[in-house]
Amino acid sequence: HVSVVLFTGDLRLYDHPPLRAALDAADAVVPLFVRDRAVEAAGFAAPNRSAFLADCLRDLDASLRDRGGRLVVRSGDLVEEVCRVVTEADADEVHMSAGHSAFAAHREERLRAALEEAGRRLFVHDAVTVVVPPGAATPASSDHFAVFTPYYRRWTQEHLRPVTGPPRKVPVPEDVKGEALPVRDETTGLSPKLPPGGESAARKQVTAYWRRGLGAYADTHDDLAADATSRLSAPLHFGTLSPTELVQRARKSGGTGAEAFVRQLAWRDFHRQVLAARPRAAHDDYRSKHDRWRTERTAGADIDAWREGRTGYPVVDAAMRQLREEGWMHNRARLLTASFLTKTLYVDWRIGAAHFLHWLVDGDLANNQLNWQWMAGTGTDTRPNRVLNPVTQGKKYDPEGAYVHRWVPELAEVAAPLVHEPWKLPEPDRAALDYPGPVVGLADGLDRFRRARGKQP
Ligand code: FAD
Repeated sequence: HVSVVLFTGDLRLYDHPPLRAALDAADAVVPLFVRDRAVEAAGFAAPNRSAFLADCLRDLDASLRDRGGRLVVRSGDLVEEVCRVVTEADADEVHMSAGHSAFAAHREERLRAALEEAGRRLFVHDAVTVVVPPGAATPASSDHFAVFTPYYRRWTQEHLRPVTGPPRKVPVPEDVKGEALPVRDETTGLSPKLPPGGESAARKQVTAYWRRGLGAYADTHDDLAADATSRLSAPLHFGTLSPTELVQRARKSGGTGAEAFVRQLAWRDFHRQVLAARPRAAHDDYRSKHDRWRTERTAGADIDAWREGRTGYPVVDAAMRQLREEGWMHNRARLLTASFLTKTLYVDWRIGAAHFLHWLVDGDLANNQLNWQWMAGTGTDTRPNRVLNPVTQGKKYDPEGAYVHRWVPELAEVAAPLVHEPWKLPEPDRAALDYPGPVVGLADGLDRFRRARGKQP
């Protein structure tokens, strides 16, 4: 008796209900990962994420080998490959975690139909990649929550399943062949400081963060220079960590830091339940429609300055350079760079979202598109016309200018607070800097924003 466990966004052995169920149902399992050609064709396999994924798969394979098994990797159309493996292994059933995008839902439907036709069964397990699955917590009047606070109230009341450790043994049938495991391709334009992927690294990261960072999270999470957030977003995106396990561990350790951290994990579920109910929100305005955006054609030079970190606003430029260098950006920095692009430059949020998705190792359709919409004022923010002033933000969240100094060496000699508005330096000092002036004045940006939104300047 053989079953297949299909790994997707859940590349771990700890707290993995599909793997548990597959092992319970059979004498042997085929742990399978399919490099789905459709994901690559959709442009979603950006270099940083492909490299991180390669690390995750190698680590998963190593952990399976420690337990007498191995990972079978195939490439092609996911549905066809799964069916092929099912036939080769003569498996009765396939177990996998639920996905929440339109793409995942469609793929799951095709797989279910194909397996049923072959007389096999598909089991889709909920709450593996999220804590509370979309649809499990809904308001009386709608299929999803559009506002975070009531969602969060509901979310905290949900009963969580018990978390399990990794299985001791994973017997895999001999005769099912896979291809060579992928490796990091260093020639594809990776961020130089990309972290390593994989469950082993992620678990070490959690232990270290629990010891050093979690307790202070509520006070430090917005401090750009302190860099005191968990950086667990990529492990969560690839599922090398279980969000349910993180919530339970955080609740157990208790305190205001842990509580604030759990709240952020609820944001992750919140965006997923929005996207699951409104798949079009990945591309179209979720709530308020705006169509007067500037685009590549009308604002090409401004967009390039933003992408390359030379807008003349130091905290924006620091953040945009961090993104390229590390494949990651601090949440406060994501907020203020997104506000700058969509509100100060009035550029279409989709252009910013695509740039982020290219570089972010945690690049995630729900979190990225819906956070962009939040900041652009087309999404779930109840104050859609708020504009973050990059100078005020810099002074508040990088008061010593240490974050700017780290990423913008041209300003290394400029002390705070002037490091956030170098145009105010005395002329000879300003002229001596190899740093551009602002791409747009903040007052002009605000005028354009108000006109475009039909408000008096
Ligand atoms: P921590 O502060 O340690 O938070 C812990 C975890 O909570 C994160 O790992 C993440 O999974 C979750 N989380 C925190 N904040 C948010 C949030 N606002 N929305 C959803 N989940 C959250 N996050 C992504 O994972 N992928 C993205 O593609 C992404 N794009 C973003 C784009 C924009 C414009 C903005 C404003 C935010 C985006 N975020 C995205 C959310 C957030 O910035 C990152 O999750 C966070 O910075 C990751 O760092 P961390 O793991 O240290 O976070």
